[in-house]
Amino acid sequence: MSFSNDVRNELAREMGEKECCQKSELSALFMSSGKLSRESSKYLLSLTLDNAATARKAFKMIKNVYGLQSTVNVATRRFFRKNRYYTVNTQLGPDAKKILSEMNLYQGLIRKINWSQLGKSCCKRAYLRGLFLSRGFINRPEGSYHLEIICNNSKMASDIKKLMGSFDLPAGIVERKASLVIYLKEGEKIVDFLRLVGANKALLDFENVRILKSVRNNVNRQVNCETANLAKTLDASLRQVELIQEYVKKSGWEGIPFNLRELAWLRVEHPDFSLKELGSMLDPPLSKSGTAYRMRKLETLIEAIAGEQ
Ligand SMILES: [Zn+2]
Repeated sequence: MSFSNDVRNELAREMGEKECCQKSELSALFMSSGKLSRESSKYLLSLTLDNAATARKAFKMIKNVYGLQSTVNVATRRFFRKNRYYTVNTQLGPDAKKILSEMNLYQGLIRKINWSQLGKSCCKRAYLRGLFLSRGFINRPEGSYHLEIICNNSKMASDIKKLMGSFDLPAGIVERKASLVIYLKEGEKIVDFLRLVGANKALLDFENVRILKSVRNNVNRQVNCETANLAKTLDASLRQVELIQEYVKKSGWEGIPFNLRELAWLRVEHPDFSLKELGSMLDPPLSKSGTAYRMRKLETLIEAIAGEQ
């Protein structure tokens, strides 16, 4: 099963106790995936979802909050990746107008946020939860970090971006086919989102993978760095050996000043040794920086003499 579905199933089980939050979550579901129709004087609200657990949750919340009994239909969509979908139908009674205005649906279905309902932080979080349940997707943390909410129009997208912004979640918006997609790319912000909506198990799974990945990256970086250093050292060493050998061919070992001769000889004998190792073999031994200094002196001298010849 996809990680998105894991998160949705977890969130669908998470039933906020407070009525304010349940109302808010329902609003988010209807705002993003609802439909309102009217037959004579009766209003029918329907909610189409692709996750069974979310449909069950909506059914329960509608009953808890408004005392209304809904029906749930399951249908199969052909030529579509997710071929099952669930429709929660609710016939509204005499207080239909009150419910519709609360959900910002009175004027028909408006795909934007009813901010008056989102005064409290608990309700904002519940709203985000509802949005994820109906329109959210999240990549497995093993892949690239990505969480998105698919929007119908630009007003809905800018409202959701603003809502996420109020929790310091810097969302981007991108156009995809006929819809707009709100997304988060930073692992840390995705973790914050999961925490805010109450997906605690998914959060732990996500964090575990994130830690493993960062350890692996650090190790890789270190290995790459060491390999690069080694290659650099070896390059330098081979250049020194070449320089010394060419010089010795013409001028002999005696041509090298006595205080530099031992180091030159050790270098040619041990091209794979670091300067530190060469320094420890000198008599008397020399520190790494002392050896480096002497090697530079040797190179400069040889180059200068070679230049004169
Ligand atoms: Zn609340």
